[in-house]
Amino acid sequence: MQNVQVLPQFLTERYRDWKEGSYAANSQLFERLVSDGQHPPAMIISCADSRVDSVALFGGAPGDFFLHRNVANLVPANSDDPIRLCTSSAIEYAVTALKIRHIVVLGHSGCGGVAGCHAMCSGDAPELEAADSNVGRWLDVLRPGYDRIKGSSDDEVAALEKEGILVSLENLMSYTFVKDAVESGDLSLHGLWIDIASGSLLQYDSSAKEFVQV
Ligand SMILES: [Zn+2]
Repeated sequence: MQNVQVLPQFLTERYRDWKEGSYAANSQLFERLVSDGQHPPAMIISCADSRVDSVALFGGAPGDFFLHRNVANLVPANSDDPIRLCTSSAIEYAVTALKIRHIVVLGHSGCGGVAGCHAMCSGDAPELEAADSNVGRWLDVLRPGYDRIKGSSDDEVAALEKEGILVSLENLMSYTFVKDAVESGDLSLHGLWIDIASGSLLQYDSSAKEFVQV
């Protein structure tokens, strides 16, 4: 593994700061999380974007949230396509093993993944349409959302950010373990969208069929 190098100094320094600061102040919590195991009440599916910090958003500590992050916070539908497996395996473990009570799909403003999907579906990003584009083939998950918002808004990318949350929430229900847990009242699904610059958080109101302020 000649391509693997030691940590750069800035990460080593940050680790040491954490060990002497946050870890030292919470060492009993970490010890308890190991002896008692993890029992997070919620799973958060968010974008890999560095500006989206779902744990900070909810004032979370280690053990509070089971996290899954991917490009554009997408949940693929259940199918034979192995593209689903990274995300669906995390959800399956959270629901069936950890018995989490809530799944939150968290979208965000200025999502590069969603913008890429919009460009691809609009015919403006042929590189994403290539069969060997990992990003493009992943963003195919969001194509049904594009078809639904096309021509609906002056800001189609922002509309697609929110539509993508709904696509993912719908796709969640294609997994039997999710559907059964939702229908038995053991699990609830939530759709959120954060405006990064203002900190404003919207949630999907299923009776109003729109995103409303939290
Ligand atoms: Zn994003």
